Amino acid sequence: MILKSLVMSIALIAAFGYFFKKVKRLHSVMMSVDGSSNLAPDRLGERIKVLFIDVLGQSNVRRKPAAGLAHTLIFFGFLAIQPHSLELMIKGVIPFFEAGNFLPGLYAVYLYAADISGFFVLIGFAYALYRRLVIRPSYLTLGRDANLIILFTSVIVLSFHFINAFQMAMPAQTGHFNYISVFPVSGVFARVFGIDTLSSTNLMIGYEIFYYIHIGTILGFLIYIPGSKHLHLLAAAPNVFFKRLDIEKAIMKTDIEDESKETFGLGKISDFSRRNVLNLYACTECGRCEELCPASGTGKPLSPKKIIHDFKQDLLDQSGMLLDNHKNEILPLMREESKLTDDVLWACTTCRSCENVCPVSNEHLDFIFEMRKHQVLMEAKFPPEMQETFNNMENQANPWGFASDTRADWCKGMDVPLMAEKLQTDVLWFVGCAGSFDDRGKKISQATARILKKAGVDFAILGPEENCNGDMARRAGNEYLAQMMIRQNVETFAQYKFKTILTGCPHCYNVIKNEYPDFGAAYDVVHTADYFDRLIKEGRLTVNALNSGIMTFHDSCYLGRWNNIYDAPRRLLKKSVSGQMVEMDRSGSKGFCCGAGGARMFMEETLGKRMNNERAIQVVESGAQTVVSACPFCAVMLHDGIMETGKEIRVKDIAEIMDEATN
Ligand code: SF4
Ligand code: SF4
Repeated sequence: MILKSLVMSIALIAAFGYFFKKVKRLHSVMMSVDGSSNLAPDRLGERIKVLFIDVLGQSNVRRKPAAGLAHTLIFFGFLAIQPHSLELMIKGVIPFFEAGNFLPGLYAVYLYAADISGFFVLIGFAYALYRRLVIRPSYLTLGRDANLIILFTSVIVLSFHFINAFQMAMPAQTGHFNYISVFPVSGVFARVFGIDTLSSTNLMIGYEIFYYIHIGTILGFLIYIPGSKHLHLLAAAPNVFFKRLDIEKAIMKTDIEDESKETFGLGKISDFSRRNVLNLYACTECGRCEELCPASGTGKPLSPKKIIHDFKQDLLDQSGMLLDNHKNEILPLMREESKLTDDVLWACTTCRSCENVCPVSNEHLDFIFEMRKHQVLMEAKFPPEMQETFNNMENQANPWGFASDTRADWCKGMDVPLMAEKLQTDVLWFVGCAGSFDDRGKKISQATARILKKAGVDFAILGPEENCNGDMARRAGNEYLAQMMIRQNVETFAQYKFKTILTGCPHCYNVIKNEYPDFGAAYDVVHTADYFDRLIKEGRLTVNALNSGIMTFHDSCYLGRWNNIYDAPRRLLKKSVSGQMVEMDRSGSKGFCCGAGGARMFMEETLGKRMNNERAIQVVESGAQTVVSACPFCAVMLHDGIMETGKEIRVKDIAEIMDEATN
């Protein structure tokens, strides 16, 4: 017994000591990065609630029903057996310790529940193995690390049941806790393996063997965690706790005039923020982000999962230089041998599917935006075709390079008022570049103007005073150009009096609503889908339902995932069409990007399949005769994609449908 105490004491001190040393190092790495220390525990009550819902409630994990249920069984079952394992460790050091002597009734209930929970863990593992060996989803990491973890945890749970089986088969001693009826599952183990027929000596030997297997595996697991993908067991909860609480988000504003700054954006691991590092630690490598990524899905080399994984690897590989404060020697993230290439970085459409589905609330785009910012501002590296787009935005305030003084030509003869003439209105309609210059966008703007007039809305446009909203330049990493355009618009807004900014473009909507406040311009911003819905509710528009056959709605990423607007356009369609509404498999928060976001509209798409063609196939498969969007960029991309399919499917904007359906 003394020998066992000694062995256990040394083993526990060594394993826990090693574990804490490793964790301390990981923490030091996180605290050594230079990016802003954005881990503020503001809105504490909400964060605690999120922790309960997302971590204890497993809400994010359960989005995939079968895999989510398996994870929930494993998570709670594994947690449930830990107090018993702790008791066994204490018993190893203090042989006469018996938790059952303190509160025997409660202890019995706990053991009963833990024993059943252990069985649930085994069910969860059975499904996990089936998924890995039979289903084998392509986005799941099937490497040695994952298999080793399953082996570790299976051994821990199986040995837990065997320990219980031996324990309950031992003759009960007077004055000690009686285990005979508290192990419903382990009791089956005892009968099936004939444990209940063994002699006392053999029971003792069997118990000790499984005891050492159980504790040894737990300690091995403890040592293994900090260096494995199961680091998420430690980092996921804090990562969720510090997550962005609002769905809407702004790209981080960079103070480009700060002359003390040596670098902008994300160039090497020392530029990470602490939140970035926590994201890397928290990744479970589940692959859900990759599964829904439209770039991965159409054969581009971009995988959000691999970005996170490769950055984590780079961080750990170069952490020595970070900790020794030799930051000048740290190699750039994008270098010859790195997996992060230009094709990876620029394939992202910023659709946010990855962030939306990540069970640990990682924010992949914080990496991608800051990387692009660094490439453009510090390295002057970006897809060559973007040079002309940047020039056009700089010289003519629109990405196509049309003369800026022709911005209001789309409404010639329509008697659309200008802000410069009215000075004051209820609604300032920010038409946007697509709505002003693109042929398809102009038709959508004309429909919108007619609707506003029908409803008697007091509105005006900026016309030639309007600049590109800055979204495109910002998402392409050209923060300098973006800020220039944003500031010009902000100055123009300040000259006039109005209550609301209206826009039919989700990109204008998002950037003005969520990013302009960082530039001192916080306004009530409304998208036309919401605004038309409001006009109908107020009785200012009368709808005569159109019969347009089978119809489906394509969610714009910047309306849906970026701003949580899914219902208003569907409500509008239900009111304005009498035909059948169908949903595509990829709709709502899982909507498939049209391929235009993140400035991809102005970049070549030469790798893999074209994203808009893929989306068009999904439209065809839905059986719809009309596909409706609420974004002029989506309308263009869908139209081109549908043309490729050779099918006769109408592509309409919500404004065009409303224009036809109202009087
Ligand atoms: S934002 Fe969209 S395109 Fe970009 S990595 Fe995430 S899922 Fe892929
Ligand atoms: S980033 Fe999130 S969704 Fe992607 S693999 Fe990691 S945990 Fe899964």
